[in-house]
Amino acid sequence: MLWLKIRPAIDRLVDDWQAKHDNAKVRLIIAHSHGHGDHHAGDDEFRDRPDTDIVGLTPKDVASYFHISDWPRDIARFDLGGRVLDIIPTPGHEPAHIMVYDGRTRLLFSGDMLYPGRLYVPTDKFGEFRASADRLAAFAAKHPVRALLGAHIEMTTTPGQDYPMEAATHPLEHPLPLKPEAITILQHMAAKAGPAPVIDRAADFIVYPVPPRPAP
Ligand SMILES: [Zn+2]
Ligand SMILES: [Zn+2]
Repeated sequence: MLWLKIRPAIDRLVDDWQAKHDNAKVRLIIAHSHGHGDHHAGDDEFRDRPDTDIVGLTPKDVASYFHISDWPRDIARFDLGGRVLDIIPTPGHEPAHIMVYDGRTRLLFSGDMLYPGRLYVPTDKFGEFRASADRLAAFAAKHPVRALLGAHIEMTTTPGQDYPMEAATHPLEHPLPLKPEAITILQHMAAKAGPAPVIDRAADFIVYPVPPRPAP
């Protein structure tokens, strides 16, 4: 696997911002949609960076950083400074999973819960997944969502057709953004999954039960 360093790109973005804002001090917050290794593998590059918060990976860490008192039912309003993000706890794929909604752009960063690909859910976590899908649908009913931006693409442009596992190339790849209707479709799929969920294909994503994961 080829790992590219992420820090130079982030430092450049922050430097550019500061240059345009009279070198105002700005804190960098590193938070993840959830604690799987493919998402936080770059954190170590930032451990010695000044003015940086690296949010922990457990539900407790995430709840405490964003001041979520009733995890996973509360939705936190997190003010970056004149720009408020909504932090939506959405456990199921992984216990500390969150989505982030940016009201200014109306974009919903949907992590690994909802993207054009295989949505992996441990079979023993379907209850949490279903509850998260319900809370997400309730949120979307009250907030305008332009598009969902998830963390992976595993679908082709052919409806319902994914690439093989670990495919090295993705010809004719589904675009990343999903329409807000995907939330309702996911909610219905989660609702009808029942006690023994099976692989369930929609045009733009696949609900994909996997065996329970051992606790980290
Ligand atoms: Zn994941
Ligand atoms: Zn992932």
